[in-house]
Amino acid sequence: MAGTGQRLRERLRAEIRRRERELRGLRERLRAELARGDAEEEDGARGLRDDPEEEEDRARGLRDVLAQGDAEEEDGARGLLDALARGDAGSAEEEEEDADGDAGDGAGAPPAELPPLPRRSALSRAEIARYSRQLLLPQLGVRGQLRLARSSVLVVGCGGLGCPLAQYLAAAGIGRLGLLDHDVVDTSNLQRQVLHGEAQRGRPKARSAAAALRRLNSAVHYVPHCGALTPRSALRLVRQYDIVADCSDNAPTRYLVNDACVLAGKPLVSGSALRLEGQLAVYNHRGGPCYRCLFPEPPPPDTVTSCADGGVLGVVPGIIGCIQALEVLKIASGMGSSFSQFMLVFDALEGRFRNIKLRPKRPDCAVCGDNPSITCLQDYEAFCGSSATDKCRTLHLLPSEDRISVEQYRELLEQQVPHVLLDVRPQVEVEICRLDHAVHIPLSKLQEKDGEHLEYLEKRIREENQRTNDQTSLPVYVVCKLGNDSQKAVKILQELPAKEFGSVLVKDIKGGLMAWATKIDPTFPQY
Ligand SMILES: [Zn+2]
Repeated sequence: MAGTGQRLRERLRAEIRRRERELRGLRERLRAELARGDAEEEDGARGLRDDPEEEEDRARGLRDVLAQGDAEEEDGARGLLDALARGDAGSAEEEEEDADGDAGDGAGAPPAELPPLPRRSALSRAEIARYSRQLLLPQLGVRGQLRLARSSVLVVGCGGLGCPLAQYLAAAGIGRLGLLDHDVVDTSNLQRQVLHGEAQRGRPKARSAAAALRRLNSAVHYVPHCGALTPRSALRLVRQYDIVADCSDNAPTRYLVNDACVLAGKPLVSGSALRLEGQLAVYNHRGGPCYRCLFPEPPPPDTVTSCADGGVLGVVPGIIGCIQALEVLKIASGMGSSFSQFMLVFDALEGRFRNIKLRPKRPDCAVCGDNPSITCLQDYEAFCGSSATDKCRTLHLLPSEDRISVEQYRELLEQQVPHVLLDVRPQVEVEICRLDHAVHIPLSKLQEKDGEHLEYLEKRIREENQRTNDQTSLPVYVVCKLGNDSQKAVKILQELPAKEFGSVLVKDIKGGLMAWATKIDPTFPQY
């Protein structure tokens, strides 16, 4: 074993030497490039030498131009060094993947103060060339472009809305982009989160987005915030930006961002998308309402559908994110927003946009009203009864004796214990994947107490009783995707009158088919 460890350490040291040589070469080329860039840059206000953070940021951008994937290389080298320091025997590949998993700029920690963006009086020659198409617009012009250059925008969520939003803001030359996300890139994100790629899987989204945007426009100052927005950090963070874009996907974050924007006096450009529908509104802007004015109470947690539950066509958040970018650019450049009194509702199936007039600001709003009861940030997960960071909401509707684990269910199968497996997922999900022996009745049919479907279930239970010559009451195990709908189904079946349905023992399979896929059968598809 010692020999293997020794060989690995030697391999890692050699790899580090090779990469350090590469990095030295790149840094020299970068220095030359920077010196040339400095000479060209007439405008001293954004002088690189005045601002080490800016220099570092630009340097990173240029490195990206010089050698794509360089940042990843450096991270990889850091991972290798860490591995050596720990004396780990893990493979170099694994270390590379983990390299920046726990980056230190968590949004949960109080953020460091960002330096103010420099005030500019003129555009450089390079900027004029770069932004010429939009400089020609009389509504924007040089004055608007200079305003963009000294504006900062906090993007809350680097997902399906945040990716296109950040892309257009970076392309248009916004001064500073804060990129906040607590999550890492996952394969199932790539269908809509278009800044990330296959090579970034497992990387924090905030960093992946910043790296992609730097390749697009290295002159923008990018600040990745890897972590969830918390009541502790939100106000200080929001205060450091001029405009906030809510691209999050859950109720606690929506209320948190809204309250922080009201308390900090910042406009909030809010988007959402689910299935084939999208919405957009601008809150707390020019006397318009805030999110709480329209939705004083959060929705009950078990009525909220997420993209993971309900699905979404990637282009729908893409369209909403683009319109969010448009509104941010209009506000930042001084044109003003069209949506501080209206909500835009997009129906992708009908191809229809509607503007719905919003109720005015409420004088009795808890946060922006005349006598606000909310004067500091609170516990928003408790307020909404749901988590801001869980990808899969987990309901606890049943006592533990009414639930079995996937491991227990596998044992039942192995021992050929007579039972009926009831799959309550919608038809569209059953078509993605299924367990062959399951009886399928969608939860909606059980909720309607649909006679035809209940008779079908009874028939299947009778058949199974006859087949196995079982005289006792046959158990029914209920399964769905994640183990939430299956609990609802168990409750419905338990409450059916015994004389109509016969008495059956009904239990739910915890964690559903996705737990089956992770813990029991790795060949079972995950979706
Ligand atoms: Zn309000």
